[in-house]
Amino acid sequence: MASSRPAEPTAAATVLQEPSISSEPDEIRFVDLKTQYRRLKPLISARIDAVLEHGTYVNGPEIAELEAALATRAQCGEAVCVASGTDALTIALLGDDIGPGDAVFVPAFTYMATANAVLMAGATPVFVDVKPDRLTLDPADLARRVEDVRRQGFARPRAVMPVDIFGLPADYPAIQEVAAQADLTIVADAAQSFGANVDGRPVGSLAPMTASSFFPSKPLGCYGDGGVIFTNDRERAQRWRSIRTHGTEEDRLISVRHGMNGRLDSLQAAILLAKLTLFDEELEAREALARLYDSRLSGALSLPSRPAEMRSSWAVYAVLSDERDRLAEALNEAGVPTARYYRNPLHKQPAFRDLPGVPESLPACESLCLRVLSLPMHAYLDEATAHTICDVLIAALDK
Ligand SMILES: *Cc1c(COP(=O)(O)O)cnc(C)c1O
Repeated sequence: MASSRPAEPTAAATVLQEPSISSEPDEIRFVDLKTQYRRLKPLISARIDAVLEHGTYVNGPEIAELEAALATRAQCGEAVCVASGTDALTIALLGDDIGPGDAVFVPAFTYMATANAVLMAGATPVFVDVKPDRLTLDPADLARRVEDVRRQGFARPRAVMPVDIFGLPADYPAIQEVAAQADLTIVADAAQSFGANVDGRPVGSLAPMTASSFFPSKPLGCYGDGGVIFTNDRERAQRWRSIRTHGTEEDRLISVRHGMNGRLDSLQAAILLAKLTLFDEELEAREALARLYDSRLSGALSLPSRPAEMRSSWAVYAVLSDERDRLAEALNEAGVPTARYYRNPLHKQPAFRDLPGVPESLPACESLCLRVLSLPMHAYLDEATAHTICDVLIAALDK
């Protein structure tokens, strides 16, 4: 059960990108897709059978059904399902003609997909620091970086892509103020936060465009890749539907704009429809686990802050410690899988560090990358196991 590679994340710990549903019965899982599958098996099987029977594997009736259910949940006029979270971000940019010559501001503390989507659209990602307490995009640093880009002149400030990191919504009101001043379009990267809300207003309704992901280990995941884009603007949603199908509209043999194959398939939609039936219950269980962790750990460790009006979807539960690597080792030795999202800030990644205007240093982000450690988080982690995890962590701190 214990990992022999304490310095690297265990196999289970890399699950945010590479989930595995095979594990021993009493193994502590970083994310538990197997128990969820056991609970939903009859419903998932019936949904899959229905797709296999009707045979419309692409653009089947499940897509419209899922888009309607997601739009309702997100309190948003339009939900457009696409092939992945990365495609969701890319298509959102393409739909507003954001591309070559445009600067898109992204936090440096995120998964590389955020920057890659900008590059796929042909635009230039510009890295911004994050708030050390909430871990989301720092609006004051955004304003500074807009000025830097104006001064350096390598691209035109055009959009900002705040990330709801670990499931906690970004500070949209403050970002909106800076964006309005600088004339930036906001595209929310909500890949980790579907199911979260601010004062009861759900993710999907917090920004003019919101992209999310159904990668298996996200709070709502399918059994492969999938994504969705939300907006209240019907014409924008029309463009997204066209772009995801090679820029066609009614006539599938006439391209009216540049596009791609960016569709979600019917089987993934069927699986998501089954999983939606449990989603609220799972969000409650994640919240309860986060509260248990908070109550055990808040005196012992530094925890990211969470504004009272926000409810996270708890894609990741993170703690912060200068002794991160030693704690990870102790947990892994005790059979507790951990991960270090994110160890490498985007502005230091080999693929991105030579882009124009990359800052020498983004101090809050760099400090976080050295201190952040994430603990097992899923709806099926029982209280006794959660206490065991906290016991191991607290004992390691005392050493
Ligand atoms: C997972 C993720 C994405 C990309 O989603 P995919 O569905 O894997 O393409 C984008 N941004 C963030 C912050 C993510 O965590």
